[in-house]
Amino acid sequence: MVEIKKLRSNFEVRFKYNDLLFNFLKTIPKEQCQTKLNSILLSDNRIKEDWYRLTNEAGLSKIISFCRDNGIKFNFENLTPSESAELVDKLLEHNQQSKDAIELKASGIDVSGIDYSFMKIEPYEYQKQAVAFFETTNGNAILGDQPGVGKTLSAISYAIKNNLKTLVVVPASLKLNWRNELLKFTNEKCFIFKFKPRKKDNIITYTKDESLFHIINYESLESYFDFNYSHKCTNYNCKWEGVTEVKKYDKCPNCGRMKVVKSRTYHLINKEDKDGESLNPNNYELIVLDEAHYIKNPTAFRSQIIKKAFKESSKKILMTGTAIKNRPYEFFPLLNLIDSKEWSNAHNFGIRYCNAHQDKFGHWNYDGYSNLEELYRRISPYFLRRLKKDILKFLPPKTYTTIPIEIKSDSLKEYKKIEDGVVDETQESDDKMTHLARIQKLKQFTSMYKAKQSIEFIKNIIEGDEKIVVFSQFISASEYIYEQFKDVAVWFTGKHNMIEKQQSVDKFMNDDSCKVFVGTIGAAGVGLTLTSASCLMFLDLPWEPASKIQAEDRIHRASQKSDNIQIIKLICQNTIDVDIDNLITAKEQIISKVLDGEIIENKNEFSIFDDLLKIILEKKNN
Ligand SMILES: [Zn+2]
Repeated sequence: MVEIKKLRSNFEVRFKYNDLLFNFLKTIPKEQCQTKLNSILLSDNRIKEDWYRLTNEAGLSKIISFCRDNGIKFNFENLTPSESAELVDKLLEHNQQSKDAIELKASGIDVSGIDYSFMKIEPYEYQKQAVAFFETTNGNAILGDQPGVGKTLSAISYAIKNNLKTLVVVPASLKLNWRNELLKFTNEKCFIFKFKPRKKDNIITYTKDESLFHIINYESLESYFDFNYSHKCTNYNCKWEGVTEVKKYDKCPNCGRMKVVKSRTYHLINKEDKDGESLNPNNYELIVLDEAHYIKNPTAFRSQIIKKAFKESSKKILMTGTAIKNRPYEFFPLLNLIDSKEWSNAHNFGIRYCNAHQDKFGHWNYDGYSNLEELYRRISPYFLRRLKKDILKFLPPKTYTTIPIEIKSDSLKEYKKIEDGVVDETQESDDKMTHLARIQKLKQFTSMYKAKQSIEFIKNIIEGDEKIVVFSQFISASEYIYEQFKDVAVWFTGKHNMIEKQQSVDKFMNDDSCKVFVGTIGAAGVGLTLTSASCLMFLDLPWEPASKIQAEDRIHRASQKSDNIQIIKLICQNTIDVDIDNLITAKEQIISKVLDGEIIENKNEFSIFDDLLKIILEKKNN
C-alpha cells in the first residue's frame, strides 16, 4: 500500500520498501520526485524500512500510473474519496494522453477519410497528421518541423477543424505572411493588432469579432500588458505595503529608510494601447506561437509576458524549426510553457541535458548538451518534428514563398520622398541609363531595408540545420548580410578575385559549418554550383525573369529530382517591389513555356524594365 498525502504544492508518498517501486522512482526526473527521507535508523540500530518521497503533480501522475499498471494499491490519506477520485482521473488522463501521442507517432498517423472540405485547399497528408497529433495532445504541442515544411497550415487547419478562437503570436515580419496564408487556404477572416493599412492600398481589414484568427507580433504584446510588484517595508514602525510598477525600491517610499523594502512576485495586468485597443488572453481558446524560440530567453520582457498571460490557456501550439541538439537549453522555456509541472526547473534541466558546468567565476554555462536520447524520449509526447527528407514525396521540387515586408511609417516616408523625386525627374525622352540609375535608387532603398529584416529569417533557416543562398543586386545589401553572419558565411561579388571566389564556393559546398552564401546576382547568378543549399532568398529581383530562373538553378539541379528547395522572395509593401514582383511573375509564366530548361540567348527580350518605366510615367501623369 502506498500512502499519499497532499501538501501545499507537493505530495508526500510513503511506502514500505519495495524493489519494483523503488527502481521505478529512480527513473523519475529529480525535480519531480525528491527523497525526503529514505530510512530511519532506530536507537537499537535497526533500520526502519519506510520510504518517503516528495513529489510534484507530474511525478505523482507517473507514480499512480505505475501503481495501477502493477497492481500496487494507493490511498490519499487527507483527501475525501471524491477528491481523490477526481485527482486520480486527472493525473491518469494526463499520462494516458502522453502514451497515446507516442503511440500515434510510432504507428504512423492514418488521416485517410477525414473531411477537410472546410479548407479552400486540401492540406498535405503530413500536415493532416500534425493536426491529428495536436488533437491527441489536446492542443498542447510543439511542432518542430524543419523550415520549409509548411508548419503554418497545420496549425491553421487544427484551429478551424475545432473551431477555436485563436491568437497567433509571430515575429513582426511574418504578420502579413500569416494573413496571406489564411486568406489563401481558408474561408476564415483574420484581425491583425496594430495593422492600419492606408486607404489607398485597398487592403481589406476585418474586425475582432468576425475573425476566428487574431494576429499579433511579439513586440506588440508589450502594449497590452504591464507588470506589478508587491512590496513590504520591514521597518517595524512603518510596515508600508504597496503594489506598484516599480520592481525594487532602494529605500522605502514611506519611511525613507534604505534597503528595508522586500519586493515580491509580480502580477500581470492588462492595459489598453493608445488607440484604446485591448487584448484579453481569456478570449482565446488556442494560442499559437510562431517561431516560438523568440521566448528562449526566460528573463526577456516578452517571454515573461507570454508565460504569465497564457499560463492558463489550455491549448498552446508552439512552432519552431530550430534543431534541439544545437542548444537544448533554449528549449526549456517552450517546454515549461507547454507543461510547467513536467518541466519545472531550468537549472536541473541544464544539469541533465545541457552538460551544465561552472566556469572559474562560478557562473553556470548551459550551452552544451547531454543525455539527448533521454530528452527526446521525454519530449516525445508533445513534440513532432518531420525532416524535409522524410516528406519529400509530398513536396514539389521547388516551393515558392513570398514574404511581404511591412515597411515602418518613418521609413516609408523616406521612401516616398525618393519616389516622388524619381517620378518628378523622369522624362520619357531620357535615355535608358538615366532611367535605370533613377529606378535603382528605389530598389536599393528597399533592398537595404529588407536586408535588415531578413536576418531573423536567415537565422531560422540556419538553426533548422540548413544552408541558404542569399542573392541581391546590390553589394551594399549583400555586405550587410555577410557582416551579420561572418562566422558561418561566404561573400561572393564582382569585387572579389577569381581565387577568392573559388574558395568561397568550395567552402560553401564542402564545409558543414559554412551555412550562408551571400552573393550579387550579377557575379554569382550564373554558372556556379551551390547545391548544398536547400533554400534561396531573393532580397531583390533581377530585371529579367530568365536571370531569376538561372539563379534558382544554382541550388537546384534537374538531376537531383528527389530534392526540394525553397525559394523565398521578400517584397516591401507599398513600394516599387510590388510592381516589380507583379511584372516578373507575369513574365515568368510566359517564359516558363518558352524556356523549358533551355537558357534564353537574348535575356533582354523578356526584361520588365520598359513596363516598369511605364508604371512610373503613369504615376507622373496622374
Ligand atoms: Zn518604511
